[in-house]
Amino acid sequence: MFTFSFDDLILGQYAYKQKKECKSCQQLNTLQRLLFDDRPKSFVTECPPTITEIGRNTWSVLHSISAYYPKNPNKEQQKQALNFLISLSELYPCSKCRKHLSNYLKKHPPRVESNKAFNIYLCQMHNSINKYLKKPQFDCSQATSRWKGPWKNCK
Ligand SMILES: Cc1cc2nc3c(=O)[nH]c(=O)nc-3n(C[C@H](O)[C@H](O)[C@H](O)COP(=O)(O)OP(=O)(O)OC[C@H]3O[C@@H](n4cnc5c(N)ncnc54)[C@H](O)[C@@H]3O)c2cc1C
Repeated sequence: MFTFSFDDLILGQYAYKQKKECKSCQQLNTLQRLLFDDRPKSFVTECPPTITEIGRNTWSVLHSISAYYPKNPNKEQQKQALNFLISLSELYPCSKCRKHLSNYLKKHPPRVESNKAFNIYLCQMHNSINKYLKKPQFDCSQATSRWKGPWKNCK
């Protein structure tokens, strides 16, 4: 069970309360994210990542891996994709998220037999966590465009 609220996570206050990150770093990080694409080191002190930042970055890696995954992966590639998800569920650096992930993998065996199947699988997995966190559902037909392009006004 979670002992912190969604609002806590959004504000990064959970990590702050647990004395895992300075409040000013959180506020600067948030402001900086609103203003810049990159992180000018002279402006923001680098801090240990919050649960929210780790989550967002992990999703970037996961969705990017699936977006560039082969259309017809061989057995070895399928095994590596599967092992990657299993390792993540063992090592993810947030115990609640790790539990969430390992329960999901048990309930929904990973679909890694094709690029399309893997993309949809990860999109649905992400949506189940979005639902839990009361975030909007993402349209899975847009997942490849979101992570590989073309996407909105992105170059
Ligand atoms: C495996 C895993 C388990 C997690 N478990 C928990 C948990 O149990 N509790 C918790 O508090 N946090 C958990 N998190 C973190 C949480 O999912 C978010 O990453 C975090 O709250 C930051 O959210 P965000 O609003 O920045 O966007 P994120 O949810 O990080 O999404 C980043 C971007 O991905 C895109 N996107 C959104 N949904 C989808 C989708 N379905 N498919 C494709 N693209 C999408 C959007 O463009 C979005 O801006 C987990 C993260 C991971 C990777």
